[in-house]
Amino acid sequence: MDLLYPRRCPVCHGLAPAGKTICPSCMGRLPFVRGSRCRKCGKPVLKNRVFCDDCLKYPHAFDQGTAMLVYDDCVRETIAYYKYKGRREYGPVLGRLLALHLTPCIKEWKIDAVIPVPLHPSRERARGYNQAAVVAAETAKRYGIPLVTDALIRTGRTTAMKTLSAGERREHLKSAFAAGSGLITKNGTAWFRTREGWKPLLAALMIDDIYTTGSTADACAAALKEAGVRHVFTASVAIGAGAAGEE
Ligand SMILES: [Zn+2]
Ligand SMILES: [Zn+2]
Repeated sequence: MDLLYPRRCPVCHGLAPAGKTICPSCMGRLPFVRGSRCRKCGKPVLKNRVFCDDCLKYPHAFDQGTAMLVYDDCVRETIAYYKYKGRREYGPVLGRLLALHLTPCIKEWKIDAVIPVPLHPSRERARGYNQAAVVAAETAKRYGIPLVTDALIRTGRTTAMKTLSAGERREHLKSAFAAGSGLITKNGTAWFRTREGWKPLLAALMIDDIYTTGSTADACAAALKEAGVRHVFTASVAIGAGAAGEE
């Protein structure tokens, strides 16, 4: 298959060496999150800090989060190709790396279901795929945890979020997500649909491509908790490095 459809490297966008999904030198260029991290959202922070500026400012609806890469110019380009230039093939590559990154978290968090952050249906139709779902599928597969794509739905269209301030994003997103047909509440506990029937959803792992201020993660987590999910964790491929001085 690789001969018919040569793979492109998600970092340099050239042809990846035979049998590889990323050039070894490009792998070395990826800015993996290392060192001190915000205990709440996983953002890199200075050595003596416990929380990042955003987490000190806003209480989050999710329990805890983690991210794999720092959202620098190189990663920005990778994700732009993946989302806007039709390079769907980058999704499983990033997804497998994220799944590896999640090994300690999966053990600690006791996840019942992996839930990708949903796109608005019209946006997903236009793109042909939900980039978060393609990435999330790899974590579900690796750990044998159900991938649930109908637990959450995006009800509001959220356009031009990039130009909004953190406070405006929060306001804009407040009612943008709701429980979908794959999630029901019984006596205050959430249940999700599986092939074998309904199962209680105590801990959910939400997966997205980018985490910036956490407003999307919060809006999703709030909708899940309202439906009776006890614990909501977040994981993203890339995370903004945050306020100045938080390299
Ligand atoms: Zn490369
Ligand atoms: Zn934080």
